[in-house]
Amino acid sequence: MSADLAKIAKERGIAYFLISYVDLFGMLRAKLVPAAAIKAMQKNGAGFAGFATHLDMTPAHPDTLAVPDPASLIQLPWKPEVGWLAADLYCGGEPVPDAPRNVLKAQIAKARALGLQMKTGVECEFFLLTPDGKAIGDAADEYPKPCYDQMALMRQYELIKAICDGMLTLGWNPYQNDHEDANGQFEMNWEYDDVLVSADRHVFFKYMTKTLAEQAGYRATFMPKPFNNLTGSGCHMHVSVWKDGENVFDDPSGELGMSALSYRFLGGVMHSAADLCAIFNPTINSFKRINAPVTASGATWSPNTITYTGNNRTHMVRIPEAGRFEFRLMDGATNPYLAPAALLMAGLDGIANSRDPGKRLDINMYTDGHKVKNVRKLPLNLLDALRLFEKSSVARAGFGDAFVDSYAKLKHEEWRSFMAHASTWERTYTIDC
Ligand SMILES: [Mg+2]
Repeated sequence: MSADLAKIAKERGIAYFLISYVDLFGMLRAKLVPAAAIKAMQKNGAGFAGFATHLDMTPAHPDTLAVPDPASLIQLPWKPEVGWLAADLYCGGEPVPDAPRNVLKAQIAKARALGLQMKTGVECEFFLLTPDGKAIGDAADEYPKPCYDQMALMRQYELIKAICDGMLTLGWNPYQNDHEDANGQFEMNWEYDDVLVSADRHVFFKYMTKTLAEQAGYRATFMPKPFNNLTGSGCHMHVSVWKDGENVFDDPSGELGMSALSYRFLGGVMHSAADLCAIFNPTINSFKRINAPVTASGATWSPNTITYTGNNRTHMVRIPEAGRFEFRLMDGATNPYLAPAALLMAGLDGIANSRDPGKRLDINMYTDGHKVKNVRKLPLNLLDALRLFEKSSVARAGFGDAFVDSYAKLKHEEWRSFMAHASTWERTYTIDC
């Protein structure tokens, strides 16, 4: 039996609940519900017009009901009288097939049927900008190689501390915070956990960071590539798979300490990486981070090919140590539920079909990548990525047609919206044609 939210509200002094969900484009939607009304909401869900958000619905659809998951409850560290809840979406008594949290839970159930559990750690990079979002928030942060810059980090001490203190209060076990490779860019790390727990935390981390940054006079953004000449924001994901409490990626006798099962999982991820790029890199802007020219700092730190390696950050997949791999393709715009769902789906396909990831490449891909023959490339833009996604038999078998078609439909609409706008670049390069 799930926890009684009305009772918890009384015990913990919660006056309001945010019943929230993430739509297909990663936007966080919510209703603010007084504790006095939570009992009925917990049973029946909060009603939303799905079409008004990024879900594949029409204005004629009945209510989309967001049924909160009590296990996800987080009291806002900066306002404990508000309890945040992740919700699962239902429409007409059925789970909404394209609701991202439902999509992830479906993959988790498939893994569970094999006795497997995926665990993830996410590294969300973000920029602190001026409130209008046009410039780096700290004018003094202009050094061309600013990674780990102590001065720039400590000028943001009060804000970074507020976010990290929030994670400490919530028991996430945060362990480090740093200035990243671009001016104005930061990263904060907390401990890995079960994939659904990490996904909910990923959602909440973005919300907390944006909110506390706003209160401090900044605008935080997870946009993949806000500045042409600076390193973009990745969202690297560390992945391991567990069975009966044991990490089954771990095998001291395997190559780099990784088990045969882990290489089959990785083989699935490598096999479908290009086809799932539309999930991992979901925006127009995402493709300005991957395949990017060298940045002011000297490296993009993002992949441009489908390769894996040991402890070397120039590839799509890095095996930093035994028992896990780091998937470096995702960017800050990636959907916190769909990205791990896609990884797990591809990994399960790899296990089921014994997919071979091939040989690892121990080279600097940024300088020597062109010397390697037959290396598969990532799609160059969202349209190419969507076309691969729609055709992917693995995605259709693993996710089901309903999700693939809905996602592709809404993302094609986004592409058409983009194409309807002439840019400054086009004007500059075309005006005198
Ligand atoms: Mg980083």
